Amino acid sequence: MNTQVTPSAAHHASRHANQSLLQLADQCVKCGLCLPHCPTYAKTRHEADSPRGRIALTQGWLTGQLAMTPTLAAHLDGCLLCRACESACPSLVAYGRLLDGVRTKQAAEAPAWRRFWTRHWLGALSSARIMDVLGRLAVLYVRTGAARFVETARLIRFRGLAAPHRLFKTLAITARRIAPQAPEPADLDLFVGCSGASAQGGALAATRIVGEALGLSVRIASESLCCGAMQRHNGFAEDADRARAQCAQVYGDRPLVGVSSACIAELREHPELARTWEVCDYLDQRDWPDTLKIAPLARRVLVHEPCSHRRLLGGNAAVYRLLARIPGLEVAPLPDNARCCGAAGTYLLQQPTMAAALLDDKLHHIRDLKPDIIVTTNPGCALHLLAGVRESGLDIEVCHPVELIARQLPSSSI
Ligand code: SF4
Ligand code: SF4
Repeated sequence: MNTQVTPSAAHHASRHANQSLLQLADQCVKCGLCLPHCPTYAKTRHEADSPRGRIALTQGWLTGQLAMTPTLAAHLDGCLLCRACESACPSLVAYGRLLDGVRTKQAAEAPAWRRFWTRHWLGALSSARIMDVLGRLAVLYVRTGAARFVETARLIRFRGLAAPHRLFKTLAITARRIAPQAPEPADLDLFVGCSGASAQGGALAATRIVGEALGLSVRIASESLCCGAMQRHNGFAEDADRARAQCAQVYGDRPLVGVSSACIAELREHPELARTWEVCDYLDQRDWPDTLKIAPLARRVLVHEPCSHRRLLGGNAAVYRLLARIPGLEVAPLPDNARCCGAAGTYLLQQPTMAAALLDDKLHHIRDLKPDIIVTTNPGCALHLLAGVRESGLDIEVCHPVELIARQLPSSSI
């Protein structure tokens, strides 16, 4: 009698996924050259919090030698996915792809209740409508004194309250309504994304002002779609693929420009969106008429370079070139820009202790250099830096570089 059991399609797919992940992990020769570049390893000095250590743990888990215990999960979850290790690796280990895959497997094997919970809170954070409402609630939270009450009653001692409290206080500063426009053809479409109105309304409005000053028609689309990056980096690859495919369906045949470096990096992974522009690159490559006068600004600016912009979009040179157009502006990079600030998408909510420790290093430089303004092209980093600056009692503005340009144009309403 034939007793052979035919493996199910699901089992087959999972074995294939395991093998692909193992192949990626096995490219690591354990040389350790990535270790000095890893921010979490720099903080804990624990091999398991380094890229090499995380790869070894992954290999142990995928080959069945290690179980996914809470300790093992904590070491993997502690990764920022900043990909500093990937840039430093001589063996070209595709660390980002490996860890995204590991998180997908972790999520698939998690208890149903946890999958349900994580999927839904990620869904809420990646919904433009919900983020818009959160932005407006955040304004009320501060204006009604609720935020002050939470602070004076020392409710922020409770771990679950501290991170949302911080986020709300920061969103109260950045939230801004965006007026959608009719779908007329334009020279470029601006990608609003899920956090556009709550975190980057100023940058979107500024892009329209600068674009129009350069003779371009700019459309802020009414469809606020999410690129799917948050889902991908939290193990929900199918949801992420769906979100990105929807973006491709809407924007695939139109020139698309984004103000958030992390979203652009994610969008570009889709073949139909591979030519999505980062706004500073886009504006930098346009013709700037000699007649366009940019007013001087005697301020000192530090440029924060988000990991997504440095490592996935080819660097921040266009940001510096754009800022150099403002006469009188003193521009310098924020020291140690190669090291992640700790925001890392949802990381600042999930790993608040490490996120705060990494932010502290940035604040140390900021206190030393005392800039008037910090610019950054990623909304998560902007919120994280702004929260840190405010909590340190510093009077420093945090904004998108394009906002500075827009303000210096004649009759700017920004
Ligand atoms: S540098 Fe690359 S090969 Fe060397 S330990 Fe790090 S990930 Fe592995
Ligand atoms: S992605 Fe960043 S935090 Fe994660 S292992 Fe690599 S360097 Fe360390």
